Formats: sequence, C-alpha cells, structure tokens
Amino acid sequence: MSLIVLKFGGTSVASRERLFNAASIVEKAWRAGNDVVAVVSAQGDTTDELLKKAAEISPSPSEREMDMLLATGEQISIALLCMALHSLGCPAVSLTGWQAGVLTDSHHAKARIRFVETRRLREELARRNVAVAAGFQGTDAQGNITTIGRGGSDTTAVALAAALGASRCVIYTDVDGVYTGDPRLVRGAQKLKEITYDEMLELASMGAQVLHNRSVELAKRNGVPVEVRSSFTDEPGTIVREETMERRTVSGVAQDADVAVISLTGTADVPGIAYKIFDRLAKEKINVDMIVQSAAENHCKHICFTVAQDQAAQALELIQNQRDVAYQSLNMDPDVSKISIVGAGMAGSAGVASEMFEALYKQGINIMFISTSEIKVSVVIKSQDAQRAVQAIHDHFFQAENQ
Ligand code: ADP
Ligand code: ASP
Ligand code: MG
Repeated sequence: MSLIVLKFGGTSVASRERLFNAASIVEKAWRAGNDVVAVVSAQGDTTDELLKKAAEISPSPSEREMDMLLATGEQISIALLCMALHSLGCPAVSLTGWQAGVLTDSHHAKARIRFVETRRLREELARRNVAVAAGFQGTDAQGNITTIGRGGSDTTAVALAAALGASRCVIYTDVDGVYTGDPRLVRGAQKLKEITYDEMLELASMGAQVLHNRSVELAKRNGVPVEVRSSFTDEPGTIVREETMERRTVSGVAQDADVAVISLTGTADVPGIAYKIFDRLAKEKINVDMIVQSAAENHCKHICFTVAQDQAAQALELIQNQRDVAYQSLNMDPDVSKISIVGAGMAGSAGVASEMFEALYKQGINIMFISTSEIKVSVVIKSQDAQRAVQAIHDHFFQAENQ
C-alpha cells in the first residue's frame, strides 16, 4: 500500500463519461488500499472559454482578477469528480489550491509554488478519504489566488507528490505516453517506454506540451518517478526517471511556434552593448531564449534573439526607447518556429547536429538560428516550413528504426 498522486488533464474530465472513467481509476487505486490524491485540471476548453469571457469585458484585465476567474475552472472539476467518486461509494473531499496547502509567490498567471503545507491533505488521507485537489492554482502569502501557468496542473501534481513523499505520480492524459514527436502532428511518432528527466525537461521546454516543464524540474529535484499514460486505455505509459536502460542519441523532436525573433543591425563594436540590451529586458522580466551576435564588420555588429510572442512587442518597445544603444535597424518577426531534437546520448556522439541540418537541407529549408546544448540542438526557421521540417527530421532519425 502506498501514497500515490493521480493527475487528470482537461480531456480526461471533459464530460460525464470521462469524469466517471477518471473516478473509476481513482476508486480502483483507493480500493487497492492506497492513499490517493487526485489532481484535476479544468474540463476540456474551460480555461480558454474563461479567457474569452475576460476578453469580452476588458482588453487588459487585472492579473489578480484573471487568476480569480481562471481558478474557477479547476474548482468545477474537483467538485464533480468528488460527486462521481461518492456515487461509486468512494469517500472523497475536494480541496482548492489554498485548502490543499499550495503556497506560491505573487506573480499572477506565472506564480511559482514555494511550499506545500500538507497538514490538511494528510488529515484527509488519514481518514481514508481520497483528496481531490485543484491543479494550476495556489495562494500567495497575502491569501490572493494565483495560477501557475498554462498546463500547470502537472506541476501541482508533482509538487504534492514531492511534499507528501508519494511513491509515484501518474499523469493521465489524452495520449498513452511520451512519443518521439507530437503524435497529433508527426506521422510515425513512436511511444517511448522511458525517458530521463533531463530529456523530458528539454522536450517540455522546447514545446512538447505533454508535461509542464516545471513539473519535470520538480520531479527531478525531488526524485519523484512520473508516469505519463492515457486515461482511456490500460496500456502502460512512459516512465520519466533519472536514468534509462537505453541511452538513445535522439529521443524526440519538439516544435514551438510561440517564438518571435528580434534583430538589431549595425550596433557599435564596443563593449557593453549586449549588456545594456539584455539587462534592460531582464529588468522587465522578459525571458530571452536564443541569442546570436555576428562578428564585427566595419565596426558594426548584428544582434538577434528570440522571445515568447506575447513579450515581443514589449521587448521591441524597450529597445526603441533605450537611449544608450544605437543601431541601424530594428525588426521583429513573429512568423518563426523553433524545432529541437533532444537526446541524452547526443553528448558523446559526433555529427548529430549535422544530420539534423542535412534533413532540413534536403527539404530546402533555411535555418535562421542554431543553438546547441549537451543534449539538444535547436533551430529557428520560418513557421511556414515548421511542419515539413519536423516530419523530415523525425523521419531522418526514426524511420530507419521502423523498418
Ligand atoms: P492534458 O490536458 O491532459 O494536460 P495536454 O494537451 O496538456 O493534455 O498534453 C497532451 C498533448 O501533448 C497531446 O495531446 C499531444 O498532442 C501533445 N504532445 C506534444 N508533444 C508530445 C510528445 N512528444 N508526446 C506525447 N504528446 C505530445
Ligand atoms: N486548466 C489549465 C490550462 O488549461 C491548467 C492545466 O490544464 O494544466 O492550462
Ligand atoms: Mg497539460
């Protein structure tokens, strides 16, 4: 008998049938004698609908009120899942983020979980109740409701699993595991039996939304074994853990369309330009991803970098208003995508990046940026080429295995 955390994503609780399906998974685990914490997301498209409702009222709603509104989605799910559990004869108590003890910082819409006060959760488990906790939400030190970023219920689940010392955390979703590429977009994507935390973290950070990237970070830091599986089949899923039996050169391909490139041409070839630009952006909490600076030519340098699309206009304005940086031209291109390959075995094998570039070359696709890390190679290309690029790269690395 052990303490387990089971998380159900939006699709897995989207209708009456699906709620009962999720409830029966929880009930089964509880009847087997486990202490069960269930974490749930808002049903189906509820969070998007709530965002639309807010937009009907105001083009720039207060972030505090936005979090108050978005948190209601998960609150519906916890109550309904408990009702379904009760009708199956399984005692269950719904808990909002605050009641479940999820304490965050005060950054509305992108709060970070600081601490989980587990007293209430433990009391409910000690009474043999299933604790059904709302994902995605918490409260700050002043008691304001916060949310932790889109897809954040995965992080709530892992945070609760870590705080409670759970033996495992199962993420039930609408695919039956982590694949070598998004199975909805990439033909021939293959399910992985297991993947390392580091690989999963890179894939999630590079756009594979199957897990929220911070959930993987937390799982790694606390050694929580995570399984991603489908709530609709009994197929074993994918285990995310520190080490895997097989060390693959490339484990997966990810794509991220939420990217914009900002380019400055003709900046002076003197010390301090990069510092001044990126310090200004950092002070406004603009998250810069890839940075490329050209070698100086005629005493000029060019600097390009990528940011998330919703921060691009602000980044552009900050640079335009910056008095201490001169340049010839400043441009922003939102029609770009980042494509990445990730694999733990890449570190020790030469030529992986060039294989990726070859796949793109054969499709006649131009690369705008390249960045590499020990276990990842990313390129930025025009969005119109993204789908073709992902498929070609995936075919290149995985088709041979299929045959
Ligand atoms: P949930 O609502 O259950 O949290 P999400 O929509 O957040 O589900 O995540 C599941 C989706 O992630 C899948 O439907 C799939 O399209 C997408 N996805 C992207 N990359 C991958 C991948 N490498 N493996 C599996 N799914 C992926
Ligand atoms: N409901 C939130 C979202 O749609 C959180 C989540 O589903 O994980 O992003
Ligand atoms: Mg998700």
